[in-house]
Order: sequence, then structure tokens, then C-alpha cells
Amino acid sequence: MNLRDHADRLGDIPAYVYDLPGLHTHAAAIRRALPDIEIYYAVKANPDPMLLRVIAPHVNGFEVSSGGEYAHVRSVLPNARLAFGGPGKTDADLSLTPHRMHVESPGELRRLLNRSEPVDILLRANLDVPVAGAALAMGGGATPFGMDPAGIQECLALLGGPVRFRGLHAHLASGLDAPDLLKLATAVIGYARELGAPEINLGGGMAVRYQHPDQRFDWTAYGQGLTGIPEKLRIEPGRAMTAYCGWYLTKVLDLKRVHGELFAVLTGGTHHLRTPVTKGHNQPFTVFGSAESPEETVTLVGQLCTPKDVFARRVRATLRVGDVVAFAMAGAYAWNISHHDFLMHPKPEFHYVSGIS
Ligand SMILES: *Cc1c(COP(=O)(O)O)cnc(C)c1O
Repeated sequence: MNLRDHADRLGDIPAYVYDLPGLHTHAAAIRRALPDIEIYYAVKANPDPMLLRVIAPHVNGFEVSSGGEYAHVRSVLPNARLAFGGPGKTDADLSLTPHRMHVESPGELRRLLNRSEPVDILLRANLDVPVAGAALAMGGGATPFGMDPAGIQECLALLGGPVRFRGLHAHLASGLDAPDLLKLATAVIGYARELGAPEINLGGGMAVRYQHPDQRFDWTAYGQGLTGIPEKLRIEPGRAMTAYCGWYLTKVLDLKRVHGELFAVLTGGTHHLRTPVTKGHNQPFTVFGSAESPEETVTLVGQLCTPKDVFARRVRATLRVGDVVAFAMAGAYAWNISHHDFLMHPKPEFHYVSGIS
């Protein structure tokens, strides 16, 4: 993909650029690394219809976590298999007919028993296993996600009627490398086997290293570590599927030194790309500029009237007014988790690099 062409065309409105051929190649590599495992893409990472269509041929289905995501994927890909998860399902959510419903609590299961149509469920377990090193922990302690073993036992005693028990679901942590994720998988599989669960969804959470874009999750090692398991296995990666295919392009509007520190004010802001604020990192970037002067220490901020509007703090760069800054790794939890309407600046443009062979 030639990002430079998009940089040259950029006006005063920032743009998201999605590398669809790059996503196609990446998704195909994940598929090859996990030949025996079902892959469902976690839609909340990025529900853009163009991305969903590129991902679809490489996955077995999609994981949705709300009635909105359910309806969205149904409209974009009417025949896709869906797994419906997430805490706080309404009665309307519980009347839907996904391929798998992930039950989050005994209360949810009791409400599910009232429906007339059959439904295939996985019980979501929150096991007391160490999740050290994770960026986000959804399990391994008291959280609102899933059930502890007592909750699972309560559910097993309630099963019947329209509810068909298919197995166990566990999404315990995000941001883990293959060896750590395999350790969690071993614990989950062991527990599922004790319950006699024929099907196990191991969740997502594959690490994306924003400070080391080249150090990608080792899908091959993960796939090899999960071979020879008799149960039917499924995973639901989000971030590690789409993070790399997105770029956010902005321009330098102003350069200023305040109390000795240099700031570059860029068009747009973290209301378009909230990832560096939520993750507390410096978003990696490339500069398309003219200056040949030496690098300086600079903080890259957006147009919002809040000190939280920071893309990267005290990083080394050479920037001039008018230069284009292309933030990398902006394909997951980026545009769709951002607070778009704060301050009423214009929305970004969306460019899709196509040409998938
Ligand atoms: C968010 C989420 C995922 C995806 O997590 P990533 O860290 O983006 O891979 C998968 N499963 C569930 C239940 C989730 O909530």
C-alpha cells in the first residue's frame, strides 16, 4: 500500500486509511496457522463493513456482544455464523437465534429458559487462574464477566427446555503472548473437560505491541500448542486481527513551545483515535514531511480542549506545519471506541485501499 499517495491528498480533515489487501493477507495467515480451530472475529474491535467482508472468507464466524452488533453483522453478512456474548443481555437479546449464545450468569440462563425456540449455549467461565502480564483482565478474580465455578454448577443444574448445552466459553484476559495464552488455554480446557464440555471457546486477547509493531502475536506457536485436543476448539480474536490494517492520517496545524516544551497540534484528535488515551501508550507514527532538520522532543496533540488529547508524549520527531503524520496500528479499538461528537469537529474521511487479488 502506498500511504504517501493518501498523505499527498490529505486536506484539513483527517482520514482513516484501511489497507484491505494487508488485512486479507494477515487474516489468511491466521487461518493457515490454526487449521483445526474455529475462528470467530470479535466485531467490537472494528465493525467496519468493508473489513468484515474481507475477514469473512478466512473465519468461521463472528462474535458479537450486543443486539446492535448482531443486527449489523446480519445486515452486512446475512449468512455468517454468530456467537452472541457480553454481560447485560436484554430479553430482546435473549430471544435472538445466534449459532451460539454465551450465557453470562444463572439469572441470564433463567430468563433464557422462558423462550420457546431452541438455543445452543456456551457457559462463560471466569476461572481463578493467574492472568499476570495481561493488559486487561476479564477473569481470574472478581469481575462482572462470566461465572465462577459455583455459578457454572448452578447453571448446569438449571439446563433443560429450549436450552442446549454445548460447552464452555472463557475470555479471561487481553494482551497476552502465545505462551501465556496457551497456559490459560490449558487451565480452561482442563476445567471444561471435568464438566464434559464437548466444545470450548478460548476467547481472544492475543497481544498487540504498540511500541513494537514488528513483534506480532505468534499464531503458529499458538496453533501448534492447541493441536491434538479432542474437544472442538474456537477462538475469537479482535485486536490482533484488525489493529495493523488501519492508519489515521492528520496534519500539523501548529507548533508551539510552552514553558520549554514543544507541542505539535494536529488536525483531529483522540475523539477520532482514542486508542493512545485508553491504552496509555504513544501511538506509533510516520511523518511525511519536508524538514531535514534534526529530531526534537515533541508532544503530539489534537484539537480538543482537554489535556487528555495526546497521541504521543515527548517522542523524538522532525515536524513542520503542514507535514502529514500517519498514525499506525489504528485498525482496532480506534475510530469505533472514540467519542466522536465531543467538541463537534468534522468527522474524518475513510479511504479503503482495495485491489485484493
Ligand atoms: C473483546 C472480546 C474479545 C476480543 O478481544 P481482543 O483482545 O480484541 O482479542 C473476544 N471475546 C470477548 C468475549 C470479548 O469481550
